[in-house]
Amino acid sequence: MKSQSLQRLGIIGHPIAHTLSPAMHSAAIDELRIPFTYGVFDVVDEFLPALLASLRIVEFAGANVTIPHKVRIIPLLDAVDQDALKIGAVNTIVNRNGKLTGYNTDAAGIRKSLEPFMGKIRNAPAVVIGAGGGARAAAYAVSKNFSPASVRFYNRTAARAETLAGQFRELFPGIAYDCISDEGALRGAIAESVLIVNTTPAGMTPNSDALPIPPGIRFSNYQIILDIIYTPIETALLRRAKSDGATAVNGVEMFIHQGAIAFELWTGKKFPIDVARRAVLQALTARTGL
Ligand code: NAP
Repeated sequence: MKSQSLQRLGIIGHPIAHTLSPAMHSAAIDELRIPFTYGVFDVVDEFLPALLASLRIVEFAGANVTIPHKVRIIPLLDAVDQDALKIGAVNTIVNRNGKLTGYNTDAAGIRKSLEPFMGKIRNAPAVVIGAGGGARAAAYAVSKNFSPASVRFYNRTAARAETLAGQFRELFPGIAYDCISDEGALRGAIAESVLIVNTTPAGMTPNSDALPIPPGIRFSNYQIILDIIYTPIETALLRRAKSDGATAVNGVEMFIHQGAIAFELWTGKKFPIDVARRAVLQALTARTGL
C-alpha cells in the first residue's frame, strides 16, 4: 500500500524534449486523482549511476527508460525481470523500498498491437528491420506470443542483426532465425513474409519521408506492416503499406500499452486507457498540426 505522500515518477533519457510520456501519464494521474507526479530526467551516460542512486528514496515510485539508456541501465539495477533480461533491454523501473527492479513493457505493447492479427502471424514468416532495443522487444513479443515460422532481421549494421539472430535461436529453438545481408535478399524476404516490423527511426519526424526499405518494394493485401514509430502517426512506410492494400499498424497503441503496464506496476491502479489515448493523440496532433 502506497503512502498518501506525493510519489514521483518520470522518464530517464537523453535527449528527451519530445517525449509524450509526461502528457500521457499526467493525464492518467489527473483522471484517477492519485498523489503522483511525472517528470523528466534528462541525463547523459556518465550521470546515470548518480541519478539511480538518488532515485532509491522512498518518494520515488519508478520511471520509464528511453534512448539511449535501455541497455546500459541493466547493470545499475538491483533486479531485472526475466523477460527484460531475455530481451536485453529495460524500459521501466520500479522502486520497492530502495530496491530498483527493471522491466520491459515495450514487448507487451507490441503484443497488444499485433493481437488482432494473431491467426495470420502464427506459423508464417516475419521480418524485423533494425537490431536495437525496439527490434529485440519486437522479436521477443512476436516469438513468445505468436509462434511465427521464422524471423529474419535486417539492419544497416549487419553484424548486429547476426548477433540478434544467434541470441534468439537460443531463446526460441523452435523458430528459424536468420539475418538478411543485402537489399536484394530483403526484397525476397519481405515478399515471402506476412508480418514486417520496422523498428528503426527511419521515417521519424523530421525525416518523415524516409523509408526503412529500398524504394520500389511493394506490399500485398495479406501483409501486416507494423511501424513502431509514433511521430508521425502515419509514416511513409505505412502510407506505402496502405496504398498497396496491406494492413498498416502504427506505434501509437504500442506506446499506450507499454505505458499502461508501467503505470500499473508503479501505482497498482488500472490505467485509464481511453483518457491516456486521448492525451497522446492530442499531443501528437498539436505537434504535427494534423
Ligand atoms: P535503438 O536501440 O537505438 O536502435 C535503432 C536501430 O535502428 C538500430 O538497429 C540502428 O542501426 C537502426 N537505425 C538507426 N537509424 C537508422 C537509419 N537512419 N536508417 C536505418 N536504420 C537505422 O533504438 P530503439 O529503442 O530500438 O528505437 C527505434 C525507434 O523505435 C525509434 O523511432 C523509437 O521512437 C521507436 N520506439 C517506439 C516505441 C513505442 O512505444 N511505439 C517504443 C520504443 C521505440 P545500427 O545498428 O546500424 O545503428
